[in-house]
Amino acid sequence: MGARLNSRFIAGMAPDDALRVAEEVNRQGIAVTLDSLGESVTSESEAHRAADIYHKLLDAIATRGINANISVKLTQMGLEQSPDLAESIAANLVEHARATENFVRIDMEDSSLTQVTLDIVRRIHARPDLRGAVGVVIQAYLFRSQADVEQLLAEGIRIRLCKGAYKEPPEVAYPRKADVDANFLKLSHMLLNSPIYHGLATHDEAIVEAAKTYAASRGISRDQFEFQMLYGVRRDLQRNLVRDGYKVRVYVPFGTEWYPYFMRRLAERPANVLFLARNFFRS
Ligand SMILES: Cc1cc2nc3c(=O)[nH]c(=O)nc-3n(C[C@H](O)[C@H](O)[C@H](O)COP(=O)(O)OP(=O)(O)OC[C@H]3O[C@@H](n4cnc5c(N)ncnc54)[C@H](O)[C@@H]3O)c2cc1C
Repeated sequence: MGARLNSRFIAGMAPDDALRVAEEVNRQGIAVTLDSLGESVTSESEAHRAADIYHKLLDAIATRGINANISVKLTQMGLEQSPDLAESIAANLVEHARATENFVRIDMEDSSLTQVTLDIVRRIHARPDLRGAVGVVIQAYLFRSQADVEQLLAEGIRIRLCKGAYKEPPEVAYPRKADVDANFLKLSHMLLNSPIYHGLATHDEAIVEAAKTYAASRGISRDQFEFQMLYGVRRDLQRNLVRDGYKVRVYVPFGTEWYPYFMRRLAERPANVLFLARNFFRS
């Protein structure tokens, strides 16, 4: 039942399912980032097993010529057991990505992990052999994000900007959606004005339109940045952007550990519960 209910958002249970979906998505002119679902592992061996899946993905992407990179959560790489463990596993993945001309995006988790995540990405990026093969995520709902963006840009680190998906206290994050949206716009201007290739991750049509207008007004060409969206969300918007010559990347999650991801997607849009229930009873 789980698999049927969440198949709208998740590419399947096995790496092969995700690679097949990635090829399908590529055929529509859309790049992919693959996410092997899982977070908060409870042992070092579990973290290594999770990393092995990503190593196999990097090889398969190269062999099959798929236009995809990988998105990795540090708690899946053992961050809560030991930051050193997570850093060394992540660095190995980035080495592999560099060797196969690919890229690792480190996803951002809840605000208790922001600093340690940024520090790890910075140290990996600072290695001359790995520079540019790793990037990070900034969440517009956090008060600290502008300062983080300034520092990351100064260091030349690629950023995915999103609104933020975790429940955060009002001491650290804007409680009002309007403030989050305004901060997203402000930060997106900083990204668009930088010479580094960044991703704007949102399905918010007003923000997408504003970013397009801003880029055009500044003479920033359509291939200097990308829009990023989640698999199964606003496919119409994804298609229209590709048609208009924008770069689009879709985040394709797969695997058996789908529950927390699925619940965050439902929380973002309660109408999804109804949508999925209807499809479930129809199928
Ligand atoms: C590629 C990508 C990577 C991400 N990585 C991270 C990360 O590392 N860390 C993190 O905290 N968050 C991440 N997120 C999630 C992000 O923070 C938001 O929670 C999520 O994208 C919803 O925000 P929104 O910008 O789409 O705007 P919203 O204001 O939430 O939504 C705008 C509109 O988009 C559509 N929409 C949004 N969400 C859904 C949905 N689930 N189902 C159907 N329609 C929807 C609806 O039409 C809605 O009205 C990522 C998002 C994307 C697209």
